[in-house]
Amino acid sequence: MRITYPRSFLSLLLIGFIIVAAPLLFALFSNALAFERLAGLSEQAVHSAVKVTQASRALLGATASLERSARQYALAGDASFLEAYRGNRATFLEITRSLDAMVLQAGQREEVVAIEAREASINGLIDTLGPGPALSGRLPREFATLADQGQALVRRGDRVIDEGIEQLREQAVQSRNSVFWLMIALIPTAMLLIAWFTFLIARPITQVSESIRGLGEGDFARPIRIDGPGDLVRLGDQLDWLRERLVTLEAQKTRFLQHLSHELKTPLTALREGSDLLSSGVVGNLNAEQREIAHILQENSIELRKLIEGLLSYSAVHARASYLDAKIVQLRDVVRRTVNDRKLPIVAKGIRIELNCEHVTAYCDEEKIRLVLDNLLSNAIKYSPERGLISFKLYKEGGDAVFEVLDEGPGIPPPEREKIFEAFYRGTDMPVAAIKGSGLGLSIVKEYVQLHKGRIEVLDGPGAHFRIRFPRKKAEGGEEAAA
Ligand code: ADP
Repeated sequence: MRITYPRSFLSLLLIGFIIVAAPLLFALFSNALAFERLAGLSEQAVHSAVKVTQASRALLGATASLERSARQYALAGDASFLEAYRGNRATFLEITRSLDAMVLQAGQREEVVAIEAREASINGLIDTLGPGPALSGRLPREFATLADQGQALVRRGDRVIDEGIEQLREQAVQSRNSVFWLMIALIPTAMLLIAWFTFLIARPITQVSESIRGLGEGDFARPIRIDGPGDLVRLGDQLDWLRERLVTLEAQKTRFLQHLSHELKTPLTALREGSDLLSSGVVGNLNAEQREIAHILQENSIELRKLIEGLLSYSAVHARASYLDAKIVQLRDVVRRTVNDRKLPIVAKGIRIELNCEHVTAYCDEEKIRLVLDNLLSNAIKYSPERGLISFKLYKEGGDAVFEVLDEGPGIPPPEREKIFEAFYRGTDMPVAAIKGSGLGLSIVKEYVQLHKGRIEVLDGPGAHFRIRFPRKKAEGGEEAAA
């Protein structure tokens, strides 16, 4: 999948955080907005309803004062009572005017208009009838009706407040529900975004670490490419440059080894032939000391030849490292042949061989597997005590063929178990270090086993215990070898 990355790792992180935080910030913001609206609405509604109710109650009080002064005027006919009546009426009218100016609910306005009309008719009565029993007789009934109308207005105000509160409660429930559903939708979205950005961030880092591990394990064949932000892509380019440098160095090293071994071979052959001639006495008889020296020369030139052959085969391994001449092979036969080829040193050291081999076939390069086993066997013989026991096991496990080689030598100390597979590494512990060797055998073994997509490991044991496993099938889409 082709993904477009930003130019730097930092901007990828920043974009990731912003995108992941966006839905959550949106939820927070819309919640705040909903609650703000709700609070505003409730404040307004309750405030105006309470003001209407307060004015209605004041109107009731003003009605009582108005009635008192009107009835006193009707009874006594005194001008001071008429004055008091007029003052109380001004207060009454001021309250009704303020009620007119307020936000009233349906029904409230009609009631206020009716109260105003009733008060105007009472005032008309007072003006036309004047003080006297006629007016005194009419006023109680008129004011009782006016008071009833005022009471009705107060009751309606209380009802409006109750209804407002109920409406607010419903709105609060509605807001809570919408916030809940918003969160239900946004939390998984945020989770998905987090997972996606974790993938985006982790992918190039994994690619870098895998590329470095590949280089460490000597896999120089695969070009390195990092998909990611610009700075990591550049890091990938640098790693690939490093890979190419390593390929060149590896090729130079192999060439150098091949030249060196080749150049060494010619003078060495001359040396060996010279020492052979001296030892055989063809060029004259030697005394005991001279023969001894000729013998040392002969032995060391043989040792030197083996080392040079080791170097040559090591460089050959690298030259052929990617090539497998594979076919279906009977592995038990390969074990038998390997042991047979080493009969001389086995007999010379009085070593006993124990073979525990099942009938196993595998799709592999027979010659390379033989070389692997031969290296392990020659090490086992080399490091075994006189008359020691060397065991070979061969069996199937899952889709793998497994070899085990055990000996009764000093074994391999745990700190050296990784290093012994490095080229030219030789054990440092006595008595192993005293035994001659090139330090190349196990590096070739490892290279060949890896070529078969297999692995080699050193197990605990009194002596050395090597285990090799590799798939019995063809690596890609091949058929399993017949058992
Ligand atoms: P060489 O045997 O020529 O030194 P190798 O690559 O075959 O080189 O082995 C590397 C080292 O591993 C040896 O020097 C030795 O320390 C250790 N080693 C290998 N096989 C055995 C064994 N069977 N027993 C003890 N040590 C071993």
